[in-house]
Amino acid sequence: MSKAIQAVRGMNDLLPEAVERWQLVETTARDVLHAYGYREIRLPVLEKSELFTRSIGGQTDIVEKEMYSFEDRNGESLTLRPEGTAGCVRAGIENGFLHNQIQRLWYAGPMFRHERPQKGRYRQFHQIGVEAFGIDSPDLDAELILMCVRLWKSLGLEGLTLELNSLGSPESRAAYRAKLTRYLAAHRAELDEDSLRRLEKNPMRILDSKHPGMQQVIAGAPNLRDHLDIGSRDHFDRLGDHLKESGVAYRINPQLVRGLDYYTRTVFEWTTDRLGAQSAVCAGGRYDGLVEQLGGRAAPAAGFAIGMERLVGLLALQHPSPSSGAPEAYLVLLGKLAERQGLPLAERLRNAGLRIEYNCGGGELKAQLKRADRSGARFALMLGDEEMRDKTVTVKDMRGQEIQVSVHQDVLIDFLNERTGRRMKA
Ligand code: ATP
Ligand code: MG
Repeated sequence: MSKAIQAVRGMNDLLPEAVERWQLVETTARDVLHAYGYREIRLPVLEKSELFTRSIGGQTDIVEKEMYSFEDRNGESLTLRPEGTAGCVRAGIENGFLHNQIQRLWYAGPMFRHERPQKGRYRQFHQIGVEAFGIDSPDLDAELILMCVRLWKSLGLEGLTLELNSLGSPESRAAYRAKLTRYLAAHRAELDEDSLRRLEKNPMRILDSKHPGMQQVIAGAPNLRDHLDIGSRDHFDRLGDHLKESGVAYRINPQLVRGLDYYTRTVFEWTTDRLGAQSAVCAGGRYDGLVEQLGGRAAPAAGFAIGMERLVGLLALQHPSPSSGAPEAYLVLLGKLAERQGLPLAERLRNAGLRIEYNCGGGELKAQLKRADRSGARFALMLGDEEMRDKTVTVKDMRGQEIQVSVHQDVLIDFLNERTGRRMKA
């Protein structure tokens, strides 16, 4: 036997058991996003490399060391998208749907970053991204946050904390950055290796450092909040008011700076202490300058991205067995006659919205019941000569304590709906 080929490091298969939980998150998210008037957009996974260097910023971790870039057969540099915002803005400019328009969009799909794989951090990971264009007021920022709140609630999730900050306008940020660089340069001796590397290129990221030895320098650094321009300060205060009026709790984190260059004003992150080191489940903010930076006519914009692996991981912790996609019933067939009439019976049950797994290929009763068990079905429906004659099925409860009963086929749908709780859901 030759050696089996393995998947690329940091890129995972999602097996059917896991996919059921993903689908629950995806359908719930879709319903929530539609409830706010957001429409889905589907974008290529490959883009020109320049799109990301120009938007995310040359000095960021992503562009410096995480991109999957290569030359295609024509010698053009292409990159597997590390995030979705740049492509969405590119598509908006290219298709002319941003200028003087309000657009509320969302997308979902794989993103690629060459990071060190660990729990909650992969090289292919998945995001649900949301972007809104054409609105500069803070009620939009609040709407984005409320959408997250509704999604967490719909999924029954607890333990997510909202952290908020403002990065100000590009001008106030540049002034702050210069002041911060002077302060950090004066404390050069106290900086760790990573921070020294960032000092020239991306000093604000130093505020984000988790290094214990760095905390004292960071605490003494000039505060970004004190350097906000008036417009940004007003925007931030009004966002806070909206959140208070909507009953959303948040924590202002002056050290929240985010890894991408394009943010202005509001930045936020949803974090949890239940996933270990990879604690950020969702991150976003405002990026009013990006459309123009990418060659479009200026348009304000804001959005966020949810890390699916981390969200699904949190869901798995808090709801170990969500309503599964297992069939409600498994149809067991005994004898030629039953095998002939079994398929139409299964179709009738499916017409009523039930999930039915059908025993293909015959077999002994014992073998069929074993398959029924493995399918995860709640009930086995047994159809033999006697049942065919009486127009009944024998129902065996595969999971609970119910005794085996004979149910007339005319009332079988009602019976199954009631026992599986489906009627209550409708
Ligand atoms: P982190 O600080 O964890 O590296 P980030 O700031 O790089 O996150 P964003 O670019 O803002 O992350 O992406 C939004 C979300 O996507 C993150 O909050 C996280 O949930 C998820 N995410 C980012 N990178 C990865 C990855 N390599 N694997 C899994 N999820 C990721
Ligand atoms: Mg990162």
